[in-house]
Amino acid sequence: MTGYVYDFIEGNKDLKDLLGGKGANLAEMTGMGLPVPPGFTVTTEACREYLRTGTMPAGLLSEVEHHLQLMQTRMGKTFGDAHDPLLLSVRSGAKFSMPGMMETILDVGLNDASVAGLGRQNGDERFAWDSYRRLIQMFGRTVFDVPGGAFETELAAARATAGVATDAELSTAQLQDVVYAYQKVFQEHTGRDFPQAVHEQLFLAIGAVFRSWNAERAMLYRRQERIPQDLGTAVNVMAMVFGNRGESSGTGVAFTRDPATGRRGAYGDYLRNAQGEDVVAGIRNTVSLGELATIDPVSYRQLLSIMQRLEQRYRDLCDIEFTIENGKLWMLQTRVGKRTPAAAFVIATQLVDEGTISLDEALQRVSGEQLAQLMFPSFDTDAAPPPLTVGVPASPGAAVGAIVFASAAAAAATGPVILVRRETNPDDLPGMIASQGILTSRGGKTSHAAVVARGMGKTCVCGAEELRIDGDSVTVAGRTLHAGDVISIDGTTGKVYPGAVPVRPSPVVRYFEGELSAHGDPLLAAVERLMTHADHSARLAVHANADTAADAARARRFGATGVGLCRTEHMFLGDRRQLVERLILADSEAERDEALAALLPLQRNDFGDLLAVMDGLPVTIRLIDPPLHEFLPPLEELTARVARAEALGEDPGHDGTLLAAVRRMHEQNPMLGLRGVRLGLVVPGLFAMQVRAIAQAAAARVADGGDPRPEIMVPLVGAVQELETVRAEAESILAGVPGAPPIRIGTMIEVPRAALTAGQIATAAEFFSFGTNDLTQMTWGFSRDDVEGAFFGRYLALGIFAASPFETIDVDGVGELVHIAVDRGRAVRSGLTVGVCGEHGGDPASVRFFHDAGLDYVSCSPFRVPVARLEAGRATTRATGSDSR
Ligand code: PEP
Ligand code: MG
Repeated sequence: MTGYVYDFIEGNKDLKDLLGGKGANLAEMTGMGLPVPPGFTVTTEACREYLRTGTMPAGLLSEVEHHLQLMQTRMGKTFGDAHDPLLLSVRSGAKFSMPGMMETILDVGLNDASVAGLGRQNGDERFAWDSYRRLIQMFGRTVFDVPGGAFETELAAARATAGVATDAELSTAQLQDVVYAYQKVFQEHTGRDFPQAVHEQLFLAIGAVFRSWNAERAMLYRRQERIPQDLGTAVNVMAMVFGNRGESSGTGVAFTRDPATGRRGAYGDYLRNAQGEDVVAGIRNTVSLGELATIDPVSYRQLLSIMQRLEQRYRDLCDIEFTIENGKLWMLQTRVGKRTPAAAFVIATQLVDEGTISLDEALQRVSGEQLAQLMFPSFDTDAAPPPLTVGVPASPGAAVGAIVFASAAAAAATGPVILVRRETNPDDLPGMIASQGILTSRGGKTSHAAVVARGMGKTCVCGAEELRIDGDSVTVAGRTLHAGDVISIDGTTGKVYPGAVPVRPSPVVRYFEGELSAHGDPLLAAVERLMTHADHSARLAVHANADTAADAARARRFGATGVGLCRTEHMFLGDRRQLVERLILADSEAERDEALAALLPLQRNDFGDLLAVMDGLPVTIRLIDPPLHEFLPPLEELTARVARAEALGEDPGHDGTLLAAVRRMHEQNPMLGLRGVRLGLVVPGLFAMQVRAIAQAAAARVADGGDPRPEIMVPLVGAVQELETVRAEAESILAGVPGAPPIRIGTMIEVPRAALTAGQIATAAEFFSFGTNDLTQMTWGFSRDDVEGAFFGRYLALGIFAASPFETIDVDGVGELVHIAVDRGRAVRSGLTVGVCGEHGGDPASVRFFHDAGLDYVSCSPFRVPVARLEAGRATTRATGSDSR
């Protein structure tokens, strides 16, 4: 084996780190004896070295020369030969697929001499000159940053001079003139001639592909997809085959199953007399793969048999790119294919039924993110107007938004938008990310728009050919719509509606709600089967953050086995504000006790309802956390009211008293101020009232024959002494409520000091629950209310973090505190129950972390409970798997 260059006959599909996905899979297919054009892969290691030093690593070029020699021998052709030249494609190929984000240069090896040879060999001079002009354009743009527009201008001028509308109508002589004009453009922009030395062409092309790893759009895509920025790309150099040599040639993209629904059977698009990028760019409309059976039955049968072998080899849905050159089939690429979330669930269970994979492996083939997408709503078609048109349903979902025609407009929009384009290209990525959905008038399910949208889980309708897009308006069905007009697009049916169509809940949500049976529905049956297996496998339990009986009931329907966080503060809002005001303004112990006594029965009722809904399951009730002044009117509002009254010479009355209290309690940093346990220790009787209400509610449930399992959780503890003080009072209250069941007392770990002193805190806590919202805030020193809007966008763009640490747990920092607290806590109290109730409890990547950290449960909002259940199961069964990124 060589150092930086691997022949296709040397590698295999497991070498993705080194050869990139495309290179590893080309090697695998070559090893299987499939018709892959000869070639070699320059490794990602070479790319990393090049990007580090800015020069080609020592020895690389001679290795390339050596492998080129082998290719020439195998092909019986010579690179750059004036009579019968070998031409090369030079393509990027990273470990994870990044569709269209990096560079490809085709037809490397053409120059003023070999162009004639190519023309003679094929008996088609026009084709040779067209290839040459494509090379100069692609090479100029990619290697030397010549603006694409400079070439386009020449091409448009040539069409105008010839009096034709399309490039296809240009004659050989006219294309020759285009080549000369392109060479001049190249010279003017680069200060040098277009390289005639074909080896120089190849080396420069390899360097350009390396550099394209760091193209802005590629970096943005990686941030979106959470692909590490330091992997580098491999470069695949392959003998060119041509799909544009007439009607017995063509090119296509195919899937071994339908990537939209998972339906069994080959599926794809074919374009006659065309090169690969014509299909992917969606520039011309394709025919379905089935039609190839009529066009070229021999190649069609061969293709189907290859696809079957590929599925068996990869044990998963594969997508492929192929070319037919004069009736000969060539495989240009394969990989485990991207698919919609619905298809992922359906295919995973199909493969189990077919005996290809185990249920454990099937769980790895789906993800919490995909399940979350399936829980999005869809259109209520009964309430929809007749559609304006129907396009190709390319990526499912229901998207409503105002029309924008440009990526920049989408990125700048403040409300929801639909990006409407003839077709998209990789430069549209920021606009696609910013849009609710994408609508194009050209291209099939394998067009750029479709592939990228599916990858992002965005709704997409493409190939809506009836749309006439003209600058900043679109005409369809006799109506002209402008930028800003609202439309609705249905990525499941391809329908495009005027206006905002009402949306309805997803069938998966209705299934979780118990409104739909999984029987007879392939998607729901797949979801049911995989969820059952996940629950069966999971070590982590999933609880819900629920403050009301209604929320808790839904969480239970969605599979929660407890309430991990009941925030009691909502119970102080609404009509009850007045009671809280009385408590705050109380001048005497008697007044304060009166206010607390009025709150007690209200709290008792709330807790009673919650315990009834969650009968038999743990319900962790957190004592009040936010600063009390949050329950009073805002300072500005009160100041204005009092000032107005005073200006009118009136007595501000109650407002004056309130204002004084608000001023007294005003804090510069309320998030770091008098809240949580601190409030409980400073305002006598407040925690005691809550503890009494919990105990009385539980006692009443027991008396009614229920099985209440409340737990009391103390927020914002930073020192064991705080907890000891609260605990002592709580225990004496609990002991005084006859008939109450045993009630555990624990704490949240949300102050870094609590994590660090967890060994002390565990002496007074029967359980820990990580409040990772506050723990993240306090570990980073980020105000959770301010920073996300203020500068997280910039931090994400700079790659300082790949995802907001408020969404996905910061493993290195906050995660370390979690490990410390778990270790120190359990060292003191071996039976310590540990959970998490911050937002991270429902985030798929974070759930995996909490599993690994040895937590007992995660708690998240009811809607995310199924996602967390699935991820909890996946975390246990994680061993093998197929990563289709
Ligand atoms: C937390 O801090 O993670 C938490 C769950 O509490 P809250 O969000 O109510 O501060
Ligand atoms: Mg908190």
